[in-house]
Amino acid sequence: TVRTRFAPSPTGPLHIGGVRTALFNYLYSRHCGGEFLLRIEDTDRERSTQEATQGIIDSLDWLGLERDEPIVFQSTRMDRHAEIARDLLAAGRAYYCYCTPEELAKEREQARAEGRVWRYDGRWRDRDPSEAPAGVSPVIRLKADRDGETVLEDLVQGTVRVANAELDDMIILRADGTPMYNHSVVVDDHDMAITHVIRGDDHLTNTFRQIQIYRAMGWEQPRFGHIPLIHGADGAKLSKRHGAQFALEFRDSGFLPEALCNYLLRLGWSHGDLEIVGREEAIRLFDIADVNRGASRMDYAKLLNLNGVYIRGADDDRLTRDVLERLAHRPGLSLGSIAAGRIRALMPALKERAKTLVELADSAAFLARVTPLPMEPKAAAALTAEARLMLREVAKALAETDFSIPAIDAALRGFAERSGLKLGQVAQPLRAALTGSTVSPGIDATLAALGREESLARIEAASG
Ligand code: GLU
Repeated sequence: TVRTRFAPSPTGPLHIGGVRTALFNYLYSRHCGGEFLLRIEDTDRERSTQEATQGIIDSLDWLGLERDEPIVFQSTRMDRHAEIARDLLAAGRAYYCYCTPEELAKEREQARAEGRVWRYDGRWRDRDPSEAPAGVSPVIRLKADRDGETVLEDLVQGTVRVANAELDDMIILRADGTPMYNHSVVVDDHDMAITHVIRGDDHLTNTFRQIQIYRAMGWEQPRFGHIPLIHGADGAKLSKRHGAQFALEFRDSGFLPEALCNYLLRLGWSHGDLEIVGREEAIRLFDIADVNRGASRMDYAKLLNLNGVYIRGADDDRLTRDVLERLAHRPGLSLGSIAAGRIRALMPALKERAKTLVELADSAAFLARVTPLPMEPKAAAALTAEARLMLREVAKALAETDFSIPAIDAALRGFAERSGLKLGQVAQPLRAALTGSTVSPGIDATLAALGREESLARIEAASG
């Protein structure tokens, strides 16, 4: 079975590039009927936080990327990493190196000053340990191949080659017994039986080092797929100045997770000219081999449009719940079951015009307001003395109906006709009175959603 994993380091919020990596791992495992795992790479105790771990879990939950097994915390596996390092030592595939960090730092410094690339020269590789200086705790280094080249058949990048001479004997276990990053990743991927490693192409050089460990252990290698990073529209690394960057930032600014996933899927992957790809269809169609190797550029306007499409297609009860949650933090609203009922009633119309859930909540807020309604300046201007007189008459006509949409519609048309007014001339002041603004869904639906009592109260308050 295909087993993929997402292996974030919990050093900060989950970035949009990480979301895409997680999504591709998830989709590929599901496409193959396999399993998707989460490993938290928290061996860097200084930089890893509990808060970041929770943020990653919350992000994946929000995105609906369910994992199949309990989370693996890399920090709990350090004994196992050390054990494998000692196995490599015993097998003659690794060796103790007694160079002190100061010694190597000095050499590195000198090489830099002379404009050379510094590589560890393997001086302890064949040296007798009896020559070890007293009082130095050694590191363990891998005996890497020195000749030939390592060839990677990458699922996304194609064939990538590196001359082995460019890779020195890397440290796998530090002098204090803690494992190095590349070593831990290989041991974990092996023990977790990962078959496909899909990650950002910034890990490509790590992969060549990791392959050396698989070879030294005689372990079967997983397939690798290195996906391009996400850049801003200007081609620069995505940063704050481009817009939102973190998963939960997109959630908080009103994006639906399925819209974000659809957008990130289409970024660098396509299937004909299919734009709207839901989860089921994505699972059916996605293949890691179809991902483009070119850099992806984030187009926020396109994402926004896609979000609008998903909002229009979303379930009204779900949207109502989301809007109520977003409104819960705002002052001046009364959010009981009455407001909930009104918002739900008007939702089919409200969702037609919103591109984010924040906009949707903004447009629904008037339904939960308590009188007197705050008035936008433009709405206040629509309530002229003449308009207020008219509204009193309109209220009478409306009071005689059963407040169903057709009845409201008929009453308003009848009133406009009798008074020689256009429907818009009646609707605009009415809208101001009911919503405190100049934009809202159809006036008939708005009246019906507010209901008789509230509508008439608002009209009276505005026309008094
Ligand atoms: N922990 C690494 C990161 O956050 C990912 C390692 C991997 O996918 O192999 O970039």
